[in-house]
Amino acid sequence: MIQIEKIDGVRKFRLSRTYFGRALYYTAAYWVDGLMIDTGCAYTVRDLISALEDVHIDLIVNTHTHEDHIGANASLSRKFGAKIFAHYSGLPVLSEPRKRQPLRPYQLVMWGYPEPSKGAILGDSVETANHRFQVIHTPGHSTDHICLYEPDQGWLFSGDAYIGGHDRALRADYNIWQIIDSLHKLARLDVNLLFTGSGSIHKFAHRDLLEKIYYLEETAERVLQVYRQGWSYGKIKRAMFGHELLLFYVTLGQFSGKNLVRSIIEDLPANL
Ligand SMILES: [Zn+2]
Repeated sequence: MIQIEKIDGVRKFRLSRTYFGRALYYTAAYWVDGLMIDTGCAYTVRDLISALEDVHIDLIVNTHTHEDHIGANASLSRKFGAKIFAHYSGLPVLSEPRKRQPLRPYQLVMWGYPEPSKGAILGDSVETANHRFQVIHTPGHSTDHICLYEPDQGWLFSGDAYIGGHDRALRADYNIWQIIDSLHKLARLDVNLLFTGSGSIHKFAHRDLLEKIYYLEETAERVLQVYRQGWSYGKIKRAMFGHELLLFYVTLGQFSGKNLVRSIIEDLPANL
């Protein structure tokens, strides 16, 4: 399933595998001025290609190499002769996704394995005919995560560095302190439009980023406070985040409240 929207010079594609006619989970890809930012998952390759009939792609940039952002890399690169760029630490995943990023059952159902593709190291900026995008390294959601910022337009393509809502669970391999640090980097930018990896577009990016930072920092402070009083991870999780969410069961425990508690305590930088 694909939903297409045009905003200024940007085309947004919201992509999802459908199951009995229903969309399972949306991820977004964007096209702007010959640049493709992310490419959806393996199940939405054909939808995306057919939506790009009237444009050309000169280059592809992946905000990170999670399977729902690199699915059409190989197909689009073949069709348009486009070069693919990603953070250097993600390049091995692009070339060997099955070996470097084994998927869990829920990921196989929702996104599937991407076809291997060949990426090059992303520099400090990306240039198209009419725009110059700054590359901002924003680890936390993944170590290879980057955002693209176009200062003249105030466009920020944030991939999964900013995910709205008040988290009560975290994936085992995310680092909450790096996520907070990356959000601070983004909050310092002058942003008119924030384009997220799920397809939501934010006009009040600064406010929304600060609100998210405030929630995470305030939550972390409360967790650390009771941890220093001797509370166990389990007790903290129950008191702060309640019962595990449906997400916990669907992902067989990969997302959990306990992971959020653990990351707040164990990933705390020494200088904080
Ligand atoms: Zn991701």
